Amino acid sequence: AKGEGGGMHREYEPSLHANAEEKRQLEHSLRNALERDEMLLHYQPVVDATTEEIVSFEALIRWDSADHGFVSPGKFIPLAEDTRLIVPIGTWVMQEACREAADNWPTNIKVNVNVSPEQLLETDFSATVVRALSDSGLDPKRLEIEVTESIFLRDASVARNALEECMALGCSVALDDFGTGYSSLGYLRKLKFSTIKVDRTFVQGAAQQSPESIAIIRAVVAMADSLGMTTTAEGVENEEEAEMIRSMGCTKIQGFHFGRPMPRDDVAGVFTRRAAE
Ligand code: C2E
Ligand code: CA
Ligand code: CA
Ligand code: CA
Repeated sequence: AKGEGGGMHREYEPSLHANAEEKRQLEHSLRNALERDEMLLHYQPVVDATTEEIVSFEALIRWDSADHGFVSPGKFIPLAEDTRLIVPIGTWVMQEACREAADNWPTNIKVNVNVSPEQLLETDFSATVVRALSDSGLDPKRLEIEVTESIFLRDASVARNALEECMALGCSVALDDFGTGYSSLGYLRKLKFSTIKVDRTFVQGAAQQSPESIAIIRAVVAMADSLGMTTTAEGVENEEEAEMIRSMGCTKIQGFHFGRPMPRDDVAGVFTRRAAE
């Protein structure tokens, strides 16, 4: 499908590679993207590592720009964060994802929504969540918010308070991309995360028998277990990787092997197909 693929945040450096004019044009188009109805969400399944049952879908934004064609989130999310456009975009994502899950999915399936630091630090984030939940009627227990460790770099207490307000509503919080960037185990004490998402780079390393990757995944799983947190392995692309991950005790798996991000209409098909199996 168009717009899918490697797009991991850190593989792009639009600020370095794109020239200023290109960036200015992209920003201009991004400013109008919501009102032009160019944003949409795709959803990728997260499965139970043992039963392979779907437990959740992660909402992943897609931009089908009239001016630029499909632009990957790895390219426009950093720009949206730099320009604060992530605030209205993020609010739209929250509304849309909660509504989709409440209206069209079985009630035992959660929805995972990515949230940028700017949304936590510069807005009344929990009010946005309350509104999305009440507008959609979604049970708060079905919403899992995904954040990265970068939320702790600036005003850690503001971010923590906003997330604790969401947890008080019944939502859960996952720590995304764990092991990349600024990892510090201290962050795990700052908030009662429900899930640690182990970055794809470790999954790949483990499948290639890298002793370091294997040791790190094992340690993260053991630590999560003793802290009462679950683990999700990201970016599992084949059965070999799935087997490796299962043997290391990760709780959940996400990756192309179990399903690519798909348009909302395809999600319903997944449920009917599974029910018929
Ligand atoms: P992420 O949150 O780590 O999302 C997982 C990314 O890995 C997605 O890229 C997904 O398509 C990709 N992926 C999943 N399984 C596999 C696999 O088996 N192999 C490979 N190679 N890749 C896989 P995507 O959709 O391009 O999103 C990139 C990043 O953009 C996300 O990384 C997230 O940081 C950000 N993003 C996406 N949607 C949103 C959003 O609504 N809000 C915010 N703030 N950020 C978003
Ligand atoms: Ca990422
Ligand atoms: Ca994520
Ligand atoms: Ca991730």
